[in-house]
Amino acid sequence: MAKAVFDSHSNTAAVQATNDDASASKLSCINKGYMKDNYIQFFVRRPVRRSPIINRGYYARWAALRKLLLQFLTSERHGDDKNPTMKQIVSLGAGFDTTYFQLQEEGIAPYLYLELDFKEVTSKKATLIDTFNQLRDKIGPGADISRERGEIISDHYKLLPVDLRDIQKLDTVIALAQLDPSLPTFVIAECVLIYLDPDSSRSIVGWASRTFSTAVFFLYEQIHPDDAFGQQMIRNLESRGCPLLGIHATPTLQAKEKLFLDQGWQRAVAWDMLKIYSNFIETQERRRIERLELFDEFEEWHMMQEHYCVLYAINDAMGLFQDFGFSEHVPKPSPQLLPQNEG
Ligand code: SAH
Repeated sequence: MAKAVFDSHSNTAAVQATNDDASASKLSCINKGYMKDNYIQFFVRRPVRRSPIINRGYYARWAALRKLLLQFLTSERHGDDKNPTMKQIVSLGAGFDTTYFQLQEEGIAPYLYLELDFKEVTSKKATLIDTFNQLRDKIGPGADISRERGEIISDHYKLLPVDLRDIQKLDTVIALAQLDPSLPTFVIAECVLIYLDPDSSRSIVGWASRTFSTAVFFLYEQIHPDDAFGQQMIRNLESRGCPLLGIHATPTLQAKEKLFLDQGWQRAVAWDMLKIYSNFIETQERRRIERLELFDEFEEWHMMQEHYCVLYAINDAMGLFQDFGFSEHVPKPSPQLLPQNEG
């Protein structure tokens, strides 16, 4: 069975290693000025310099998540703006993601932020948070940190180990984290579900829909396994020991939307990253980051961006999210397509 293969230790370790890769790439972007993050440096052992195309891709991924997160954090029922609603964020397979620390620094962290990952990863994360004051200061003075158990319990931030494929355990962890399923909740699954077998991903998507009645589910992952670029992308990851077990079950934007709708989400919208880059990220921001580095790999950039997507799914029992989502603006001819603008 495919599941038995995935359960092998080497495979799990290889998927965890994609987290180190992501952290190193994020630091590469930060060092080039794409975005600001004072915290990712603590999670990277050996800084590397990524190519402009990788930097730009990570920037687009960061910007899309950040825009949707800000929409969520500021969503209020019309006319109810004076009493801000308490909100929660749950990050599935959070790895060494630093969004919590960034939001905390910006003074916009939600009431509760919960991060979940394998124990090997949460133990390392707990150790690093415990080690560096700049990180520990952000989780508050009364935090209970266990490096061995890979757990952090503080008032507003929790880090807990769990295998996401164990749905019953997910209920246990959210109870342990004292998450309130009736509060608006933003669920992040960034480059995580695609590594799981399709049954497990489906169960997680269904579990989240049943559990949170006012929620946004944010998904970022690969699509289009079947063309030449897609096949190469799959081979590359397979050769590193982390096959994209889920990609054939949801190979297109429509298939991803259908997965969420079938699992009970009220609304689901998926865009590829090419469209997100030109239609969702502000023109001004694009202009800024397009001046950061020489960039001439336009063809590869287009192909790469067509093979990643963002999906958001919504449950809106409280009626908070009428205005939530991708707001399409008509793209002007993108200056990034004109080589003379580069440099
Ligand atoms: N979301 C982070 C990390 C992505 S790497 C980011 O975007 O930067 C994928 C992460 O998912 C790894 O940290 C890996 O350990 C975790 N992961 C994969 N399968 C998992 C599972 N079954 N249970 C818990 N975590 C898992």
